[in-house]
Amino acid sequence: MNRETFQPAQIQHRRKEGVVTIVWRHGETSSITGEDLRRYCACSECRAKEKIGLRKTGEANDVVRLELMGTTGMQVVFADGHDRGIYPWEYLYRIGQDEAMEYLYA
Ligand SMILES: [Zn+2]
Repeated sequence: MNRETFQPAQIQHRRKEGVVTIVWRHGETSSITGEDLRRYCACSECRAKEKIGLRKTGEANDVVRLELMGTTGMQVVFADGHDRGIYPWEYLYRIGQDEAMEYLYA
């Protein structure tokens, strides 16, 4: 699948349930929890602390806002103000497939 494949057709954020659902242009749907978004936050801070892929207990999993960044991906803002993570669309797809680490370290 090429880059164009990993573009969202529809994004739904159900904050109460803590789930972001993305319908992809290629037809599949990914449901990603706030916990997984936080776990796989790959911002410079999380990279520096080698915290990517680890369960971040005590840190906010509540997604307050999504900032869509066109064809690039989206920025996720958590309740504790953690907002430096930019998630490329394909990365989000891979998180939904439980392949986030493979994507990051391919
Ligand atoms: Zn982070």
